[in-house]
Amino acid sequence: MNLQIDQQRLSSEIERLAAISEAEPPVVTRIVFTLADLKARAWMIARCEEAGLAVRQDAIGNIFARWNGADRAAPAVGTGSHIDAIPNAGKYDGVVGVLGGLEAIRALQRSGFRPKNSIELLIFATEEPTRFGIGCLGSRLLSGTLSAEAAAKLKDRDGESVDEVRLRAGLNGSLQDVKLPTGYYKAFAELHIEQGPLLERAQTSLGIVKSIAAPASLRISIEGAGGHAGGVLMPDRKDALCVAAELILAVENAARSSGAVDTVATVGVCDVFPGAVNSIPSRVRITLDIRDTDHARRDGVMQTIERASKDISAKRQVSIQSELLNADAPAECAPEVRGALADSCRKHGFPFLEMVSRAYHDSLFISRVAPTGMLFIPCRNGYSHRPDEYAAPEHIARGALVLAESLAKLAGSTQ
Ligand SMILES: [Zn+2]
Repeated sequence: MNLQIDQQRLSSEIERLAAISEAEPPVVTRIVFTLADLKARAWMIARCEEAGLAVRQDAIGNIFARWNGADRAAPAVGTGSHIDAIPNAGKYDGVVGVLGGLEAIRALQRSGFRPKNSIELLIFATEEPTRFGIGCLGSRLLSGTLSAEAAAKLKDRDGESVDEVRLRAGLNGSLQDVKLPTGYYKAFAELHIEQGPLLERAQTSLGIVKSIAAPASLRISIEGAGGHAGGVLMPDRKDALCVAAELILAVENAARSSGAVDTVATVGVCDVFPGAVNSIPSRVRITLDIRDTDHARRDGVMQTIERASKDISAKRQVSIQSELLNADAPAECAPEVRGALADSCRKHGFPFLEMVSRAYHDSLFISRVAPTGMLFIPCRNGYSHRPDEYAAPEHIARGALVLAESLAKLAGSTQ
């Protein structure tokens, strides 16, 4: 099998997709089911159809593009990632796995390879938590990690529910039907930028993921008392933002003192009400993101934060309510997928690192229903979720090549 990745075409497709954005280049903002996202989805479907793939969408908007194998009844081998992007993001997060996955399939087609099991590109819907407050909505539903009832009730900032938004986007059908039948995928492999600096530091172009860290997130509401910034004297105040400040530092401290470098915790959202210069903040909402490769340690950090929150609430006499948005288990990547990726690397003499994914991906949820693995490529300075995110074309092409060979090995050949 002589596999050639068309690096130039892949690069130009990444640029084309990046131009479909709500923001001016080089900024990519593509929040799920906005006009830009719908345009990008249509553009992707056209590229898949151009490659002769059979395309379908489910009720949440996951897009499946299938290259039928000789044995159509056999479980497919899947690959893919996402194309939605957070506000002020870059060109490569998710996209590398979608367009790289498509190019992997096209390279296999050009080589004359005929798969035994079908090979399917999966473009996950609403991977980013921007709109509905929870990440990987599409793959949570595919894997049954989240129920259709719970998903339908999620709302965006404008109070619109998942059901309202998806129906307006033309996605009919029932969310109940999104869950994949048992044994749908024989194996699944996701190509992704590392979103960290380790590959670049090691000057290694490929990383094979061993495990994916366990994420959890909480929304915390602090209810204090407002008032005039001049009129209310300090001893009489119940400033909700001061409470938030103490709590945020407690979060940082809890993660730092877990005893492991793999523990990370972040407060990335802080909404202050009423948000006026001369008004004491009466209400603050923060969101908290905690991750660890070790499930028990992650839960321990959450308990430490919970205790700190109770202490601060008692000391400052304000109400602190927390709502658990998600607390997911970590995933081990499947030996057969890791093996297929490693065999391809060795065949070409490409060095690779075995690594942990500290970011979570749709693969975390697909791993609940199929043997799953991930292949990382470096991104400059480890930057991601920002406009200067960059991955070199030769690294992307190398990732697509290893992915293509691994898909071929997992799907088997008819020759
Ligand atoms: Zn991603």
